[in-house]
Amino acid sequence: MLEEVVSQVFGKTIRQCRNEEIYYALLKLVKTRAEAKGITEGKKKLYYISAEFLIGKLLSNNLINLGIYEDIERELTAAGKSLAAIEDFEPEPSLGNGGLGRLAACFLDSIATLGLPGDGIGLNYHYGLFRQKFKKCRQMEKPNPWIEKTSWLTKSEKRFPVTFGDFQVEAVMYDILVTGYDSGTNRLHLFDLESVDESIVKKGIDFDKEQIQKNLTLFLYPDDSDEAGRLLRVYQQYFMVSCGAQLILDEAKERGSNLHDLADYVAIQINDTHPSMVIPELIRLLTAEGISWEEATRIVTDTCAYTNHTILAEALEKWPVSFIEKVAPALVPIIRHLDEDVKEKFKDPAVAIVDGEERVHMAHMDMHYGHSVNGVAYLHTEILKNSELKNFYKLYPEKFNNKTNGITFRRWLLHCNHALTDFLTETIGDGFKKDADKLEDLLQYKEDDKVLARLTEIKMENKRRLASYLKETQGISLDTESIFDIQIKRLHEYKRQQLNALYAIHKYKEIKAGKKPARPITLIFGAKAAPAYVIAKDIIHLILCLQKLIKKDKEVAPYLKVVMVENYNVTNAEKLIPACDISEQISLASKEASGTGNMKFMLNGAVTLGTEDGANVEIHELVGDENIYIFGEDSDTVIARYDRGDYRSRDYYEKNEDLREAVDFIVSKKMLRIGDKTQLTRLYNELLNKDWFMTFPDFSEYVKAKERAYADYEDRRAWARKMLVNIAKAGFFSSDRTIAQYNEDIWHL
Ligand SMILES: *Cc1c(COP(=O)(O)O)cnc(C)c1O
Repeated sequence: MLEEVVSQVFGKTIRQCRNEEIYYALLKLVKTRAEAKGITEGKKKLYYISAEFLIGKLLSNNLINLGIYEDIERELTAAGKSLAAIEDFEPEPSLGNGGLGRLAACFLDSIATLGLPGDGIGLNYHYGLFRQKFKKCRQMEKPNPWIEKTSWLTKSEKRFPVTFGDFQVEAVMYDILVTGYDSGTNRLHLFDLESVDESIVKKGIDFDKEQIQKNLTLFLYPDDSDEAGRLLRVYQQYFMVSCGAQLILDEAKERGSNLHDLADYVAIQINDTHPSMVIPELIRLLTAEGISWEEATRIVTDTCAYTNHTILAEALEKWPVSFIEKVAPALVPIIRHLDEDVKEKFKDPAVAIVDGEERVHMAHMDMHYGHSVNGVAYLHTEILKNSELKNFYKLYPEKFNNKTNGITFRRWLLHCNHALTDFLTETIGDGFKKDADKLEDLLQYKEDDKVLARLTEIKMENKRRLASYLKETQGISLDTESIFDIQIKRLHEYKRQQLNALYAIHKYKEIKAGKKPARPITLIFGAKAAPAYVIAKDIIHLILCLQKLIKKDKEVAPYLKVVMVENYNVTNAEKLIPACDISEQISLASKEASGTGNMKFMLNGAVTLGTEDGANVEIHELVGDENIYIFGEDSDTVIARYDRGDYRSRDYYEKNEDLREAVDFIVSKKMLRIGDKTQLTRLYNELLNKDWFMTFPDFSEYVKAKERAYADYEDRRAWARKMLVNIAKAGFFSSDRTIAQYNEDIWHL
């Protein structure tokens, strides 16, 4: 089938084409096939609005979902070509940052797969999130251009006017087709401005933040350390929701809604607070159509639902009224009106929309004027109800519900781990591809030597594949006989990469003192830090310095390797995750809302080493004590300590010699020879005087848990059994399950 397309487009055979040409031919073929499936329609339609969609490369995934992967691969092989080499030409779309954006991408896949009418709404960032480079053991940020003349983006005919305080713009809408697995097609709508000018980006990722018409959709999460950057974020948010609201109302009318009955035609899921202004924007548009205030607010409430992703207070958005006055003055009277209605009903200032400092609490608006508030894992939702949002839970207990996150198995198993997928299919049939719970059938092979040996072998193949990939792309050599202990996720103090780094130091010192591990250990990190997040960058600096120091140390290097993979993104994740032995999920209990990396690792046969946090709690419950390594203080202890406000990291430092030595090493002569004194000292002081995310209390248990896991790894058969149980129990974390629950409880499509 590809041969025809290639001959049409290039007038050549596949064999005569360059890989790049084949890539463009495949793009065309996939688009045609996806369109031929038809867009999934229905009376009621979901709109998933999100500032991020971390979709990853789409070629292979689309081929799998369209059911033509094997055919294409066969055709290519027959012509002497390799699909993997062709995939290299596809740039990874840079439309997301981390877990929240990846979740949105997994959800689109599942919505399409379940045959539900539902589209994504977001922005078409030209450079998206920055590309990370390491230089002198530091993170450097570069633009990440990914949009090419021919790409998955299709420019639609749709145009929407958006009125800001000082000027008006006309938005253009691009679409990316979202293929469902053995199902219909949906769309991701991305809004953009034709006036955006990439040439205003100078040196690194600096640009003039005040030229809104030129910079509006350049970057995701522009630096918000100054006012101009924060204002730009509000411009982006209003632009996204204004376009989204217009599109939603237009389409609802086309489907037959008279707007009074909008909630029968539309469900809107607000992914975190970035799209929250869609609420006042819809009220504005509905009242402009002659609908009364009371009715408009009721319609919008019945239509909108809010997903909370964090309990970190600093991450809950609060925009000054003055910003909204400048960006979207038409929304200010509406937000004031909503706020007055709330203040009239509830005297408690803690639930106000506009606070005493004239700041708009976006999440508060969502909870008062949405019909559903959900957390993203069991523990997270409980914490929202009982502590973070308890004032709102008291007012609206019926609105609160949990939707434990999930991942699409098409990308995170079928696409990224062919060897395991094929083996599972041979062993338990291919039912698991559509019904993830069928993975449990694997449990009957728990004592089967052949199956266990094959799982170990597949892991080894994936470790070799990762090793050659990292050698080729980043010049990193890995010892595939070593344990691959991996922590890949955004860099944040609450995720505690610093705890893992302290372990690396501890191990280094032990080996120096002659205590060698039974098997070499490779600690792999991958993480981007927000450009203005100083301590996060210091932690990256520490890890890169350790990488260099240990590599050069002839006594230690054969037993311990620290590696930080550059530019962690979906493409890298797809290579790293199948190769992982131990999955590090070590956030401070109560701080990680769910995590989805933890689920991807489990599904690919890694064993979790983690705290009782986020979805780790549910993983623990599913696999049992034998098949996970849990350590550290629980969320109740942590929350109580924050409430008392009496945490002193220095007390732990003084009492624990191993910890003290590891911490002191950060500013030792050896480290200062390699690293930057300012950065290392700042991090040292931060840990010793603050350690806000409480790494010290968990340090000794963490070390013990790691040692236990490494020791257990030596019984290869017993370890393979742990792998098997993890894979078998991962079905619960299919995003198909999550989406079915959203639909059942919230959307009712
Ligand atoms: C899954 C994923 C994440 C989320 O990882 P967590 O460990 O859950 O924080 C972030 N980035 C990428 C590229 C991912 O694929």
